[in-house]
Amino acid sequence: MIGAGPAGLTAAFELAQTGLNPLVLEASPHIGGISRTHLWGANRIDIGGHRFFTKSADVQRLWAEMMDEPMLQVPRLSRIFYRDKFYQYPLQIPNTVGNLGLFESFLMFASYVRMRLQPELPEDSFQSWVRNRFGDRLYRTFFKTYTEKVWGIPCTEIRADWAAQRIHGLSFFTAVLNALRNSGKVKSLIKTFDYPRLGPGMLWESCARKIEKLGGRVVTNARATRIHHESGRATAVEVEHEGKTHTLRCGEVISSMPISTLVKNLSPAAPPMVLEAACGLRYRDFLIVALTCRKPDIFPDNWIYIHSPEVRVGRIQNFRNWSPDMVAEGTGTVLGMEYFCSRGDDLWTKSDADLVELAKSEISNLGLAEKSDLGLEGHVIRELNAYPVYDAEYRPHVDSLRAYFHGFSNLQTVGRNGMHRYNNQDHSMLAGHHAALRLLGRPELDPWEVNTERSYYEEQVLSSDKKHSATEILASEKAPPSPKEEISNLKSQI
Ligand SMILES: Cc1cc2nc3c(=O)[nH]c(=O)nc-3n(C[C@H](O)[C@H](O)[C@H](O)COP(=O)(O)OP(=O)(O)OC[C@H]3O[C@@H](n4cnc5c(N)ncnc54)[C@H](O)[C@@H]3O)c2cc1C
Repeated sequence: MIGAGPAGLTAAFELAQTGLNPLVLEASPHIGGISRTHLWGANRIDIGGHRFFTKSADVQRLWAEMMDEPMLQVPRLSRIFYRDKFYQYPLQIPNTVGNLGLFESFLMFASYVRMRLQPELPEDSFQSWVRNRFGDRLYRTFFKTYTEKVWGIPCTEIRADWAAQRIHGLSFFTAVLNALRNSGKVKSLIKTFDYPRLGPGMLWESCARKIEKLGGRVVTNARATRIHHESGRATAVEVEHEGKTHTLRCGEVISSMPISTLVKNLSPAAPPMVLEAACGLRYRDFLIVALTCRKPDIFPDNWIYIHSPEVRVGRIQNFRNWSPDMVAEGTGTVLGMEYFCSRGDDLWTKSDADLVELAKSEISNLGLAEKSDLGLEGHVIRELNAYPVYDAEYRPHVDSLRAYFHGFSNLQTVGRNGMHRYNNQDHSMLAGHHAALRLLGRPELDPWEVNTERSYYEEQVLSSDKKHSATEILASEKAPPSPKEEISNLKSQI
């Protein structure tokens, strides 16, 4: 397995349980990939705030097997901050209309009607997709600024796929209906989500320990630098570890490193067309500035989306509201100021001291914290390749790479950057799970079919109660569930 993030560790966990001895190579010193928990003294920083949510019974099972203690049930509150006002999220009619004013609300509705009568065609960009469903004014208020902060490119250059994947099933009318339903019922806004007591890294560190207990190995500071191949088979992986290069012969490879790097690391080199596709993929980077705050109850949200265009910060996490155990004793809370950026740009290249200063002045300018309540020190974590970019060209590039890797019989590429797909942890886990089972003789389980579209994903939920864990698959060896079992499975789902 290349990469000790959710995809690589899930694949290794499933394989280790069948008696195999998987080896996981991790380039960084950390376990968990983007889903790790970073230590800053006795404070714990989540790289973005990872909500645990899944519709897959397989992923639920894996979480329970990997963790040593039950997850917390965390009440959720996240609001949008725009032009000095908080908007409940999901929207509530009195709050939204109160903030916008009657006249602006009317203009929003009129703009929605106009777009319905004269939709923007072709509907191929994020902008056209959202405007056609919500109208131009609502798009500008609630979608444009934040989305452009995240991606660093105009919404006209972001593919409609991303909107379809993230905002699927929502339109102006469903938003208003939801808002009407929510109005006056503040409780219904505060849903809960699962969260490990010590952050997401707790799950992945526990998973790595279990893999090792079962006879596998997870090696950090081990970067895969070259993949040798012959006749459609990976034959060896070169690894840099502690200043030396090792060549490891391999039977099967599951890679979660960025697919573009994987292509560039192949030996012999991939065909020029494939290399060209790999070079065409783009990533968005991310950094989080952690600040301590003397006051524990600075705001009640887990996180706040900052739509205000006058500041660079995109989102603010309040880690005490995720789990009090994330915060060191004697500290009120730890805030995570999230900045979306691209390596080499003015944010990425700022010194840590300047970023801490920027974060402090932005949070106080927004009126969300007094500078005098913030600790002197801050801490910066930079994350390369945090987001695979869905720009106008990414789709044909990804299709070419997918087709090329289908030509390999023992090399599978999985995960968020491994498939250049906007995955949550559960999608990456399912991709790793599918790759492990495919390797064990289930060719119908294709990691590339995870998180393609909602309808497929919902089918997954139904089918996942079938025997899908690696050990169960081996034990049952293709004995399909009887129709009676199928029906009882379905009944238990219902
Ligand atoms: C800001 C932010 C917020 C998020 N919030 C949520 C959330 O609320 N809920 C949720 O479920 N998901 C969330 N996610 C998504 C989640 O972080 C990812 O889906 C998940 O971590 C992807 O797992 P992965 O294994 O595919 O990739 P990664 O986590 O990227 O892991 C890949 C690993 O491969 C390693 N690697 C790369 N190259 C090499 C190499 N050459 N050799 C060896 N190792 C290598 C990397 O160091 C890394 O550890 C969020 C992501 C971000 C950026």
